[in-house]
Amino acid sequence: MSPPMQRGAPRQAPLDETSCDQATDSEHEGTARPTARQLLEQALLYAAYGWFVFVLSADKVPLRNCPRCRAGAERHDPETCTCLTCHGFYAATRDPVRIAEMIARHPDGMLAVRTGAPSGLVVVDVDPRHSGHRSLGKLEQAVGLLPGTVQQLTGGGGLHMLYRHPGHHVKSRSNAFGSDITGVDVKADGGYIVVAPSVTRDGGRYEWLGGIWSHTLPLWPAILTPLLDDRPQLRAVLNPRRRTDVRASTAHATAALRGEVERVTGSQPGQRNDELNRAAYNLGQLVGAGQLDHDQVADALRDAALSIGPDEPKILRTIRSGMNAGMANPRPHREARPA
Ligand SMILES: [Zn+2]
Ligand SMILES: [Zn+2]
Repeated sequence: MSPPMQRGAPRQAPLDETSCDQATDSEHEGTARPTARQLLEQALLYAAYGWFVFVLSADKVPLRNCPRCRAGAERHDPETCTCLTCHGFYAATRDPVRIAEMIARHPDGMLAVRTGAPSGLVVVDVDPRHSGHRSLGKLEQAVGLLPGTVQQLTGGGGLHMLYRHPGHHVKSRSNAFGSDITGVDVKADGGYIVVAPSVTRDGGRYEWLGGIWSHTLPLWPAILTPLLDDRPQLRAVLNPRRRTDVRASTAHATAALRGEVERVTGSQPGQRNDELNRAAYNLGQLVGAGQLDHDQVADALRDAALSIGPDEPKILRTIRSGMNAGMANPRPHREARPA
């Protein structure tokens, strides 16, 4: 058992070199379909880990319901239906006997895990076919880097990032963070993910980064939940640009801006964020009083902070929170310049 690979860590070579030389086309680890035995071994590990496992068809869609359940207009509860593989993810189980039977009946199927509260999973699903990787960057620029966690490469070149379910309902949805963030889905309550060692029809492998792991997943980042529930909030986070009404700009306000920028630029290592926060608050008060323009202040502070160190997402968060606090407490700059 090796620890999970964290985001940003270099990727391990998936094959050991000795086996590469000898592998034939059909036996090559990169393209071979898993045997039923391999599927079962892995499925039982997942179940032991607390995940609910089921089997999809080789085409990555849920297996067909049995005739009784297909006809089942007598609205029976899929959650309590006892059929082995009916009703998609509702068939998922931790029972080794049922798992073994599913795989025995569908040895060419793909392995899947039900997400959401049952397995304790919320998964960020990045789909490159819809610019998911770029969108993830956009999201992280707005909210900061998502915590490093267990990750899976998907058969289609995408990425699954796994987080611990927060206990409240988290709905599965595609383009979960709105139409500006295409290709970033959330798989949680009411969803599932395909898992290793599944292989798609065209040879795409599902593969854990860092191999098998055994540790507690980081909690689903709380900052993401309101973005799921209320998309306009995200738009505000992603597009913080706003023009404010500068009614009474004064030379003093402009001088205050210059002074704060200088203090940020001259701040000592380790002090930058405190200085930035203080400056953002003070200038936010002037913005709130109609003496300075919001975007002008935000841009000036950003440039000043970046001139002495990296980490733009953190800078933007500090500016945003500091200015918002200041704007909520407007105070015009009235100090008279000494003669
Ligand atoms: Zn059935
Ligand atoms: Zn049923």
